[in-house]
Amino acid sequence: MRGVAELNWAGNVVFSAERLHRPASVEELAALVAAAPRIRVLGSRHSFNAIADSEQLVSLRGLPAAVEIDSERGTVSCPAALTYGELAAALDAAGVALANLGSLPHISVAGSIATATHGSGDRNGNLATAVAGLELVTSAGETLAVSRGDADFDGMVVALGALGAVTRVTLDVEPAYSVAQRVYEDLTWNSLEEHFDALTACGYSVSVFTRWEETIAGQLWVKRRAGETPLEPELFGARAAPAQRHPIPGGDPAACTPQVGVFGPWDERLAHFRLQFTPSAGEELQSEYLLPRAHALGAIEALRALAPRIRPLLHIGEIRTVAADGLWMSPQYGRDTVALHFTWQRRQAPVEALLVDVEAALEPFEPRPHWGKLFLAGADSIAPRYERCADFAGLAERLDPRGAFRNDWLERCVLGTPAAAG
Ligand SMILES: Cc1cc2nc3c(=O)[nH]c(=O)nc-3n(C[C@H](O)[C@H](O)[C@H](O)COP(=O)(O)OP(=O)(O)OC[C@H]3O[C@@H](n4cnc5c(N)ncnc54)[C@H](O)[C@@H]3O)c2cc1C
Repeated sequence: MRGVAELNWAGNVVFSAERLHRPASVEELAALVAAAPRIRVLGSRHSFNAIADSEQLVSLRGLPAAVEIDSERGTVSCPAALTYGELAAALDAAGVALANLGSLPHISVAGSIATATHGSGDRNGNLATAVAGLELVTSAGETLAVSRGDADFDGMVVALGALGAVTRVTLDVEPAYSVAQRVYEDLTWNSLEEHFDALTACGYSVSVFTRWEETIAGQLWVKRRAGETPLEPELFGARAAPAQRHPIPGGDPAACTPQVGVFGPWDERLAHFRLQFTPSAGEELQSEYLLPRAHALGAIEALRALAPRIRPLLHIGEIRTVAADGLWMSPQYGRDTVALHFTWQRRQAPVEALLVDVEAALEPFEPRPHWGKLFLAGADSIAPRYERCADFAGLAERLDPRGAFRNDWLERCVLGTPAAAG
């Protein structure tokens, strides 16, 4: 049978699925899942690899849309398929906020959590660390509700789509706050290397956008919350840009959230890109490697040696930090992290050829690839980097004994093939 020819956001993955279901209720979803030999939930399709692919796909956009804020507990319960942009609008109306966001508000909550999507900030965990509870439908068609503190909860949040269809997510919220961001230009590598710890600590969320040039590292993006020190005109030798900037040379700055140090609502500053615009470059691929932050400078040096080959394929790179957590399949599990990100031109063959050398260069620094982006490493090298991977495999076996949520990607990158695993 022909596939449904659905594409991911970047257009580099054609899903092989024969059906894309759109259930309108949890009961309908449960019946679908129980009857499907192999099935996966499709979020907002922003992953760059086949992580979401299966024989059948299901979109949960048709499930009940209620957003329920519990001010006493400091949580919000929302539909899994909601995007962060949609959620932020509901939170704003109630005067509450999330602790952090990724670079774009267009992504679904459940899809982001499943892949440990992150923003930046030395003390900010990835977006999955805000999860206080989940409701899911297992492959037996049963519904399950779990909360932080329950047995195995830490294995069920960054679940790579492998444990069931998440229907609702409960997230921690806090009182709404304001953020100002400023972009500093012409940060040098010398300054970044000399002041790395101070630099990543100089804001609530800090990013360095780099083209991997010889001496100039690039733009330093600093986001500070109200009450923190006001943003200075110069930081680490880099000067504040007098006007709005886009991270990609030639990109339209109007697509970015407001800068130049003006305070505004948290959700209009923490993401780099505005909901109404195409984020990033649009025509692109992405890769990202998460390493213990103690290896940051060594890994940056290793990539600088590859810079002449990286630059011709690159729109832009980004360096961020993320706090350690205890979620079993989180790339930040047990380690404060530096994230080395690449937004590539959409030229998959030469990008993958270069990734052979990028991954070899980063190998001494214990990289864990971003689950939702392009990488080459397989289960044989990735699984040993996750101390709780065997526990996760056991959890998948217990919640999904017939393997309905298994897919080729999961076997290639995480669990190994059943024969190899046996
Ligand atoms: C322009 C752009 C910018 C990005 N910026 C960042 C960034 O700043 N930081 C970062 O860390 N990542 C970033 N990413 C990567 C992105 O956040 C991840 O790929 C994320 O998984 C996307 O969520 P999604 O809803 O599109 O998931 P999809 O790609 O649709 O699915 C990803 C996985 O989640 C599973 N899934 C989705 N919904 C459910 C559900 N309800 N129940 C069970 N499983 C589910 C799918 O089965 C699949 O396994 C970016 C991507 C793009 C395209």
